[in-house]
Amino acid sequence: MLARMDTHSFDTVVIGAGIAGATAAAHLAADRRVALIEAEEAAGYHSTGRSAAMWIQNYGPATVRVMTGLSRGFFDAPPPGFADAPIMLHRPVLFIAPEEQMAAFRGVLGAGIGLRQIAPAEAEAMVPALRPGWVRGAAVENDAFDMDVARLHQGFLRQLRARDGVLALRSRAGRIERRGGVWHVEVTGGAVFRAKVLVNAAGAWGDVVARLAGVAPLGLQPKRRTGVIIDPAPLDVANWPMINDVAHTWYARPEARTKMMVSPADETDLDPQDVQPDELDIAIAIDRMQQALAIEVKRVEHSWAGLRTFTPDRELAIGWDDTAEGFFWSVGQGGYGIQTSPAAGQLVADLIAGRVPGALGPVLATLDPRRFRGAR
Ligand SMILES: Cc1cc2nc3c(=O)[nH]c(=O)nc-3n(C[C@H](O)[C@H](O)[C@H](O)COP(=O)(O)OP(=O)(O)OC[C@H]3O[C@@H](n4cnc5c(N)ncnc54)[C@H](O)[C@@H]3O)c2cc1C
Repeated sequence: MLARMDTHSFDTVVIGAGIAGATAAAHLAADRRVALIEAEEAAGYHSTGRSAAMWIQNYGPATVRVMTGLSRGFFDAPPPGFADAPIMLHRPVLFIAPEEQMAAFRGVLGAGIGLRQIAPAEAEAMVPALRPGWVRGAAVENDAFDMDVARLHQGFLRQLRARDGVLALRSRAGRIERRGGVWHVEVTGGAVFRAKVLVNAAGAWGDVVARLAGVAPLGLQPKRRTGVIIDPAPLDVANWPMINDVAHTWYARPEARTKMMVSPADETDLDPQDVQPDELDIAIAIDRMQQALAIEVKRVEHSWAGLRTFTPDRELAIGWDDTAEGFFWSVGQGGYGIQTSPAAGQLVADLIAGRVPGALGPVLATLDPRRFRGAR
């Protein structure tokens, strides 16, 4: 039996206060009582605080691109009072291909939205450190931008509080039971949160939380991705685009005006954990970047790793479970959880309220977690 002391009743309990849980909770709190519970001392300690913070339309599978596009308006014009400064900063993405990636390049161009092919010389003018002759194919997505992830995340948490929602930090859901048509979620310290609807937004721990609730997992796979900060001095990189090879074996982008972030675009399968970078991945990031860019790396200033958690088909999983009443999934945000978050949070609230989710209607089946149960 769960502890009966210190029991709190809500309409919806959301587990996980990363960007997925924060956006869902903020939207849900518009018309219901919501508790957002988070295991860590700080919301955003895991994947949400470890991203590359780029919004890129030409990224991820088809439905992710739809969700990314639908989220665009929110970044352009967040609601009044949402943030005290812009949450986006324009930065084009330069897709480049060496000779051996030209087949992939043609594929990227063919499927691309708003991609403009440019001559290799134009790419070299945008990024003067490109080694002459390395680029054989180049294209620009001009409409991309850096996201201010912390400001976005805090904006949703503030919106939750303003709507009388509760954020409970240091509250790991340890036991989850459904009794009398109500979920009982016991957290660190023994408090119990009760609600008819439970939203699982636990990121890499999505399947762990499901198992706690007696719900079959979806087959989520957390994958490590590494970020490295270097000092490219004497190069002035502030206005460079993000640079992405089309085979997605590395990418680099300016960071805080004078630095560069580099990633080897690694995807190492791991169990959910407080993941740390691996020395080999750091070396690979620098090596791959230096094959294309003449940048001397005297030392690594900082490195980190985060988990990008994918469903088996790499699309998001947003919707009701069909095996447990009142159990709702918002997981599988992969490498696009921030850029899709405004549309995803709205969708969670719409589906839970039984509203028809407007523009997302045609792609709902692709997002439905029941696709992994063979139940459609
Ligand atoms: C290096 C890197 C680069 C990336 N670049 C981009 C990018 O450019 N653009 C983009 O859109 N996305 C990017 N991403 C992906 C993005 O960071 C993720 O998709 C997103 O942060 C996932 O958010 P989340 O809320 O699902 O997970 P998280 O932020 O991990 O949140 C899940 C939360 O659930 C909590 N939790 C787990 N179990 C429990 C429990 N039992 N009880 C209570 N709380 C629990 C955890 O503590 C955690 O805080 C990148 C990721 C990485 C690692």
